[in-house]
Amino acid sequence: ARKPIVVGNWKMNKTIAETKAFVAAVDDKLNDKADWGIATPYLDLPAAKEAKHLIVAAEDMHFKDSGAYTGAVSAAMLKEIGVDWTILGHSERRQYFGETDETVNLKMLQALKNGINPIVCVGESEAQYDAGETHDVVKTQVVAAYKDVAKEDVEKTVIAYEPIWAIGTGKTATNEIAQDVCGYIRSVVAELYGQETADKVRIQYGGSVKPNTIKELLAQPDIDGALVGGASLKEDSYLAMVAAL
Ligand code: 13P
Repeated sequence: ARKPIVVGNWKMNKTIAETKAFVAAVDDKLNDKADWGIATPYLDLPAAKEAKHLIVAAEDMHFKDSGAYTGAVSAAMLKEIGVDWTILGHSERRQYFGETDETVNLKMLQALKNGINPIVCVGESEAQYDAGETHDVVKTQVVAAYKDVAKEDVEKTVIAYEPIWAIGTGKTATNEIAQDVCGYIRSVVAELYGQETADKVRIQYGGSVKPNTIKELLAQPDIDGALVGGASLKEDSYLAMVAAL
């Protein structure tokens, strides 16, 4: 059985002081129902790493070892402070920062080469959803992200299915839609790597997940966790998700 993994994606929220307060309030109150984590802005990562239990993830990472890439952060820099998870390819990175399927793939390879576990995000826009293109879009994104990724590395990765129309909108995909697409994503992984590998990879749903919706979403057979934006920011709301599972 796959252990669920629930990660809060803080996006561009919280100072170091706020991060410390969050860790102090939450870290000792987690349970074994899931692997619990937070993805934080770079500056907050050392404070987040004071947690004993929370998984700590970056929200992005560069695909080169080092060099003239103003504003970027490398895998070695993350590893030095003990961060061994990162989100990659979030739709906001794709939309606002020029992330492409190709850069996401390069980052996947760089993360895995450096012992960093990627949470790779895929998902369709509202127009693509309305046009019935969801399966095609996520298949293209998954196939591209895993290009040249070795079979033995696949189980270190997590795939987050985040329909763009459900992010920050309060419009959660129904359990049925989320299950359908997560199940489809698993079938794509099976085509690429075989069923045994596909059965090991954890697939999260993300998009307006709340304490009152998380349990039913995670009860779906192919949904192995959640990537949570807004509801992960407040200590009480995060702990309400912990209590809900
Ligand atoms: P919300 O939970 O705020 O909709 O954000 C989802 C998300 O983008 C997580 O990565």
